[in-house]
Amino acid sequence: MKKMICGLLLAGAVTAPAMAQDKGPEARPIYDRSAVLPPSVPTSDDVLRIPVPKDYNVPKGSFVLVGGRLFDGTGKAARPATIVVQGKTITAVLKPGDRTWPADAVVYDVTGKTVMPGLIDLHAHLTFFAAGDAVNVYSAANYSGAESTMRGLKRMATYLESGVTTVRDVASHGDVPFVLKAKQAAGEIFGPRIFAAGQLITQTGGHAAVHAFQQGYPEIADKNLNSMVRIASGPQEWREAVRMQFAKGADLIKLASEYTQEEITAAVDEAHSLGLPVTVDSETQYIDMAIRAGVDSIEHPLPRSDAAVALMAKRGIASVPTLVAYRVIMRGSGGYFGSTSRRFQLDETVNENMAAKMRRAGVKMGIGLDVVALAGTDYLPGSYIDELESFTRIGFTKVEALVAATKTGAEIIKLGDRLGTIEPGKLADIIVVDGNPDEDFAALRKVRTAFVNGRLMLQDGRVYQPAHEEVPFPNARK
Ligand SMILES: [Zn+2]
Repeated sequence: MKKMICGLLLAGAVTAPAMAQDKGPEARPIYDRSAVLPPSVPTSDDVLRIPVPKDYNVPKGSFVLVGGRLFDGTGKAARPATIVVQGKTITAVLKPGDRTWPADAVVYDVTGKTVMPGLIDLHAHLTFFAAGDAVNVYSAANYSGAESTMRGLKRMATYLESGVTTVRDVASHGDVPFVLKAKQAAGEIFGPRIFAAGQLITQTGGHAAVHAFQQGYPEIADKNLNSMVRIASGPQEWREAVRMQFAKGADLIKLASEYTQEEITAAVDEAHSLGLPVTVDSETQYIDMAIRAGVDSIEHPLPRSDAAVALMAKRGIASVPTLVAYRVIMRGSGGYFGSTSRRFQLDETVNENMAAKMRRAGVKMGIGLDVVALAGTDYLPGSYIDELESFTRIGFTKVEALVAATKTGAEIIKLGDRLGTIEPGKLADIIVVDGNPDEDFAALRKVRTAFVNGRLMLQDGRVYQPAHEEVPFPNARK
C-alpha cells in the first residue's frame, strides 16, 4: 500500500516510503551492565558504567551555593534553596536558613542569581572544520589530528562560557573526541563533559560522506580513514564499524542514511550488545528502517510518516530536532543544496511543523544544536537560546524547554540517574546565571559560574584554570 509522507513535497523521484510496522521490539535492547552491579559498587560516569575505584575522578573538598533561587531541572518552579556539593556529588538541597553543611566547605554567595543544572547539547561536532579552513571538505574536514584537537579545545571553552556542561559529540575526527573526553574527565582541560560517538557510520555516498567525492577527495571518503565519517558496505562491515568506535571508547553510536534494513539492523544489534545507545541521522523510509532496527534516538526534523512519529512515541525513541541548524542553513542559502544524499526539499515551516507533530504525539525531545556552518560554535550562546525559543514555538512552555535542555537531555544520553537535575545524589554539573532563565532565556547570556563534576570551571564568566600543583621531583637537592 502506497502512502504519501505527511503531505510533504519531495523533489525528484523518491520511492514512496515503506510504512513502519509495529511488530514489537524486534531489536535487541541495550544490554544494561549496571543491572548486574549492586548500587554500592562505584561505576564510571559513562554509559557503560565500568566499575571504578571509589575515589575515581572525585575532586577534593566541598562547596555550597547560598542565597540563590534554584531551578532544579525537574520541572518544579524555581525556589530559594542552598545547594551542598561534596566531591563530585550534590549531597543536599537545603531550605534557606539551614546551614548544615561541612565546616570546611567553600561558600559561594549567589544572592539574586539562579542556580540550575548545566545545559546539555545533544548534537555537537567538536572537530568539524571551521569557516575559512583551507581544506573545506564537508565529510573529511580534517587532515590533522592536532588541528582538530585545538579546534575542539577552543569550542569546549565556548560551550562552558555559554553554560553548556555536557555535549554529546555525534561525529568528530578519528580518536580526537575520546582524547578530549578523557582529559576533561581527569580535570586536565576545561570544558563540558563529553559523550562521544567517534566516527559517523554511513554507506558510500551517504550523508556526510558524499561531499568528499564531489570535491575530489575520494581517499577521504574511503572506509576507515581518519575522518569524522566511516563508510561501510554490507551488514558485516556495519558491525565492524560499530566495533571500531567501541574499541576507541564510544559512548554511543551515530549512524546516517542511507543504508539497507540489514545494515542498520546489524549495526544496532551490535551496538546494543556492547551496551551502546544508537542515534541516527535519517529521513523518510530510512527512519522507518531505523525504527524497525530499534534505534534510541533520531536527529533532525526531517520528513517522516505519521506512523513513524507514532512509533517513536510508543517505543520511547527520542528526537533531537536541531531546529536552529536548519534555520541557519535555509535562511542562509534558501534551501538545502549540494547534497545528493538528501533528495528532498526542506522548508523552515515544514520542519517546525514536524517537530510540533512529534511533541504532540508525546515523543521525548531534547536540545541539540548542530550549528556547524559559518561561525559554528561562535554563535553560542545565541544559538542555544534560539533552539530553546524554537521549542516554545512548537508548544513547550519556557520551563518545559529548560527541562528538555537538562533533565531530558540526560535521559537521552542514558544517564538520567546521574545528570540533568539538581537533586541529592546527582553529579554536580551546575551553572549560576545572572537573572531568571526560566522566565527569560536571554539570562543565559549571563552565565557567571559553572561547575562540571564538582570542579569549578567557569568563574566570573571566564574559563577558570587553577595553577598546577607542584610535584617534588625525586632526588632533589635539599
Ligand atoms: Zn550533525
